Amino acid sequence: MEDCLFCKIIHKEINSNIVFENDNVLIFKDISPQAPVHLLAVPKKHISSILEIEKLDSDIIKELMEAIARVALEMGLDKEGFRVVTNTGRGAGQSVDHLHFHIMGKRKFNWPPG
Ligand code: AMP
Ligand code: ZN
Repeated sequence: MEDCLFCKIIHKEINSNIVFENDNVLIFKDISPQAPVHLLAVPKKHISSILEIEKLDSDIIKELMEAIARVALEMGLDKEGFRVVTNTGRGAGQSVDHLHFHIMGKRKFNWPPG
């Protein structure tokens, strides 16, 4: 997808700090971390948001969730709990229109979120 920041990161046209990669999934560090651990997990396929997931994407989404869990465990985030968030739409804070899950850990999280 032209002009999509995360597609450019996926295609290595823009540098990122990658912590996990396979054929369908990329997980990299957020450039502006809001927690001691703040990663972004994306499907390599351009999907604009959770609203655009199609039936055909179910294997990719499963892999994405499995990768999130694997990385969270590898980083020891399960010990004190961690948060996985996908903002959908501008009103909820989505600024990049490529489906991404924030993985945040190593600090206290409030509920409900602001
Ligand atoms: P959202 O606002 O939920 O759409 O999340 C987008 C996230 O992308 C924000 O947390 C940004 O800090 C992050 N971000 C923007 N540009 C980059 C970049 N070049 N590399 C890594 N993360 C980025
Ligand atoms: Zn994209």
